[in-house]
Amino acid sequence: MNRDLRKLWLIIPDQLPSVIRRCPKCKEKTEFQNSGKFRVNANGRLLDVWLIYRCSHCDTSWNMTIIERANPENIDKEEYKGFLSNSPQLAASYGSNRELFIKNKAEIMEIKTGYHILETPTITPINKESCLEIQIKNPSALKLRADVMLAGALEVSRSQIKKWFDAGLVIAGQETLLPGARVFDGMLIQIKKEEVIRQELLDV
Ligand SMILES: [Zn+2]
Repeated sequence: MNRDLRKLWLIIPDQLPSVIRRCPKCKEKTEFQNSGKFRVNANGRLLDVWLIYRCSHCDTSWNMTIIERANPENIDKEEYKGFLSNSPQLAASYGSNRELFIKNKAEIMEIKTGYHILETPTITPINKESCLEIQIKNPSALKLRADVMLAGALEVSRSQIKKWFDAGLVIAGQETLLPGARVFDGMLIQIKKEEVIRQELLDV
């Protein structure tokens, strides 16, 4: 793991949200589950991509619009490959994106679930005062406390994490972060370079 590059943490709920909608075949409101599959229509000059949901009773499909009439040249090539190969990460990321559900006027079935973090390096070098920089993606808007998330993901104890917070070593957007602060989408967490933290991270 390269410690000198900023990391991206994508927070993914363990169970992806279902959508409640009226099924034309069942003729009542049913639960539509994320199938993990995309449908891509790349005919002509414009690109459409949908994420497919299926009625849990009769398998009827409903397509949630991901990309609508876009110029293929504006689409990230890696992401496009991911749509074609039904990338589980993409299906999880789009399938937990609240803004997308709202855009599609889809009613989400609320779930109480655990989560996991998918870590990928970025190409952004970290600030020289930081020992760790983490860009958070939380598209499903899961309600998480920063201290609990960091303790779990970095495998350090809650009491150690508390010391980092108390010493003002955890920063978000130029400000010292409070331990109970919520983790939001787009947040950049910086942990200051201090010998004590370096040791604790090396010990794990
Ligand atoms: Zn049905």
